[in-house]
This record gives sequence, structure tokens and C-alpha cells, in this order.
Amino acid sequence: MDLLLPRRCAGCSAPGEHLCPRCRERLRTPPRRISTRVDPHVPVWSFGPYADTHRRVVLAMKERRNLAVRRHLGAVLAAGIAALQARGELIDAPLLVPAPTRPRQARLRGGDPVADVCRASGLPVIRALRHAGRVVDQVGLGVEKRRENLAGAVELERVPGAPVLLVDDVATTGSTLAASSEVLFAAGCTVVGAIVICHA
Ligand SMILES: [Zn+2]
Repeated sequence: MDLLLPRRCAGCSAPGEHLCPRCRERLRTPPRRISTRVDPHVPVWSFGPYADTHRRVVLAMKERRNLAVRRHLGAVLAAGIAALQARGELIDAPLLVPAPTRPRQARLRGGDPVADVCRASGLPVIRALRHAGRVVDQVGLGVEKRRENLAGAVELERVPGAPVLLVDDVATTGSTLAASSEVLFAAGCTVVGAIVICHA
């Protein structure tokens, strides 16, 4: 594909690399605690607002089989988790649980991008959650509608055997993270927090 498509930076469209040095630099910002409108019951950290470089890189990560960007975000995620551990905000290396995805979207995107990012971090990952049946796409729904849409929509696929850190691409209202942590808590799991690439 590189022969057919000129490579452009996922963050700024500059020709040359998958991610230019300037955009890589921007992605190096350590994660910060954020609050979401829906209480996810656990601390949530984000690498930045859903704007500029972070937004464009998240959109690029979702492009079909954009594995170079997913790999880079895996390194960003690992470094971010290490920063949280160094600051004492996270104790011990957690098991990563990607937020549930819709199978159809994963097929369209050449694999679940968030799960790919988790795997690329080199940290242990477990696919513990899945969407049960049909869930309407969240885009365009308000807070209450998102909550209704997700109530009962997240199912436990397997029970993690260690404390977990939820991972998602974007936190909008926090409703996906809340539904996910509720399912994990109900199964007796320890959820130490959630980390997202960016927050809206
Ligand atoms: Zn760039």
C-alpha cells in the first residue's frame, strides 16, 4: 500500500512519515485525570482533549488497518501507564481491558483498533467485554440516551483474573466506561481505572 498511497502524517497530513516528529512530541504529554458527565466509578485519565493532533490520530487509528498508527499509540499508552505508576497514581501493572466494540465496526476497521493499541503496548491484555446484540451507534445521542442505549448492552465475555485498567479511544460522556466498569464490578473484578486517548 505504501507504493500506492503517499505516506502522510496522521496528525497533520505532512508528507513523509506515519507520524511526524512534531505530532509524536504532542502525543508524549502524560495522561491527566479528567471527570466525565456520567460517573464511571473509577478514576479516568486522558492524554488530551478531542481536538487537533489527538483527534486526528484517533480518527486515523480507526481507518481500516492503519496498523502503524495503532502501534505508535500502543507505545504512547505504555509510556502513559508508566508515567501514572511513576506518579503513584496507579499501583502495579494492570491487565488491560479494551472497551467493548461492535463486531461489525471491528470488521470494517480491519480488527478492533483499541484492542490493537492495547496489544501494541506490550502489556497483558484480556478481551473481557463485548457488546450484547444490537447497540445503536452512540454518535449524536445525548447523555441520557447514551446511558439507556448502553444499559445491559455490555456483557462479560471472560472474567479477568487480575485488577484491570479499562482502555478506550475517546471518552465523550463516560457512559461506555460506566457500563463497562459496572459489568466488571458485578463479576467481582477490581477495576483500578480507565484510560482514554482523548476526551470530548
Ligand atoms: Zn504531523
